Amino acid sequence: MADVLLTADRTLMSDYHQNEFLGFGTCAPPNVIPDWLYSFLFFPPMKAVNGVSLAAPYGLRKVEAQLLGEGFKVLTVDPDHIGKYLDEAKVLGIHVMDPFGLGPASSTFAAILKKEPFLAQYFRRFLEKPEVRKAKKRGLKIVVGGSGVWQFKYRENFVEEYGIDCIIDGEAERVIGKIVRAALNGEELPKYYEVSVEETPKLEEIPNILNPSVNGLVEIGRGCCRGCKFCSVTLRPLRWYPIEKTLAEIDVNFKSGYTRYACLHAEDVMLYGSRNTTPNDKKLVMLHEAVVKKCDGGIGWSHCSLATVALKPKLFSKLAEIILQKQPWWGTEVGIETGSPELAKKMMPAKAHPFKPEEWPEVVRTGMGLMHDNNLVPACTLIVGVPEETENDLIKTIELVEDLKHIRSLIVPLFFVPLGKLKNQQWFKETQMTRLHRELLIKCLRHDFRWIDNLIDLSFAGKWYAKPMRSLYTFFVKLIERKARKAGIT
Ligand code: SF4
Repeated sequence: MADVLLTADRTLMSDYHQNEFLGFGTCAPPNVIPDWLYSFLFFPPMKAVNGVSLAAPYGLRKVEAQLLGEGFKVLTVDPDHIGKYLDEAKVLGIHVMDPFGLGPASSTFAAILKKEPFLAQYFRRFLEKPEVRKAKKRGLKIVVGGSGVWQFKYRENFVEEYGIDCIIDGEAERVIGKIVRAALNGEELPKYYEVSVEETPKLEEIPNILNPSVNGLVEIGRGCCRGCKFCSVTLRPLRWYPIEKTLAEIDVNFKSGYTRYACLHAEDVMLYGSRNTTPNDKKLVMLHEAVVKKCDGGIGWSHCSLATVALKPKLFSKLAEIILQKQPWWGTEVGIETGSPELAKKMMPAKAHPFKPEEWPEVVRTGMGLMHDNNLVPACTLIVGVPEETENDLIKTIELVEDLKHIRSLIVPLFFVPLGKLKNQQWFKETQMTRLHRELLIKCLRHDFRWIDNLIDLSFAGKWYAKPMRSLYTFFVKLIERKARKAGIT
């Protein structure tokens, strides 16, 4: 039996019908359809054998690999089956991304719909399970890690009330072993452990995953060199994996029989192997040729910048040609953030680099146009309510969204959340919304309604369950559209 159990709540232990875009649905609060139907549509349970998850979030798999490598007895378990294993366990590690719904997407939804998002509800309910409470009383140590741990600083009472013993903030490979060892030895744990820059793992210290990751996600690198002020990723050093490391992790996913697909993860896939903001043609082509050759189920990108696509259109088309040999389209997340060159200069001076921040709107138009022409479908974010935002900035963003209406994409406006270098600034609240903020929200909603049918078609094309699933999602979208129309939004 395992001393250490790893898990995450239901909204994270799902593969969203093998479609990462649908994962965004976990950010919404309960809405027009019953909760059971909503959870089935957006975050159905992951397959599990005896309660052991077939796939788990990538970050959790890295921690699992690190602990197994250090000789601990570890098991990654589905949250609904945790009770079976808790009697023997001494440490419970929980992976979090947005535990209280304070992240930009969920806090925006919650502010508008005035309800607690699903992902916050499910995290709380997991810790309220009688079997978790019972194990806690017996002395179970609860350790939390993942990209959402910053939110615990805003919920100190919750940490006490729910008996969370240790929160690890940062890349955990070099510290998780000593914390788990201390927990097993009954030693006092640090309540909030911030991983220092010196403790950030070097490439050779990052283990390969040993078991499948949700939707075949595999890292190709960590860190980002652009330094946007509102982002916490920017504080980490840039490291790129050798191709063999990525291929070895893809093999782990394939051998398990879970997937034949790989989602390449980096803050900007187009910068793979580069030390600055100019893509490295040779390394990118080599990576994609090797990955596409292996992946008969296709590939996706986690994130990609518009500046790199606009800078190297020929390289981008070459990569598209390689990827599209085996699939009709692929998806990625893209940060547009603003249509204002002035605001871009203040908040994200290197986002357009090597272009000038003044050229940002043109970079966005060019990059998005190239994505459309090459069948890359971006899910784009805008940040509203950043400090120093002016009416003029908002007008320029509205104009940019209008210019993008013919580009197949989703555009999601998110309220500013104080992170990164701006962590001491004020949150943006819905009560601060002006007429222009509303106009921008409406413009984005109209854009998304224009494209959503097309995206649903693309997402389910070729799948045996395409017809019923398509009908269900279309029904859901129509309900939301009707509600929006009634509220005078569209
Ligand atoms: S927002 Fe994106 S581009 Fe900017 S620093 Fe963060 S990861 Fe890098």
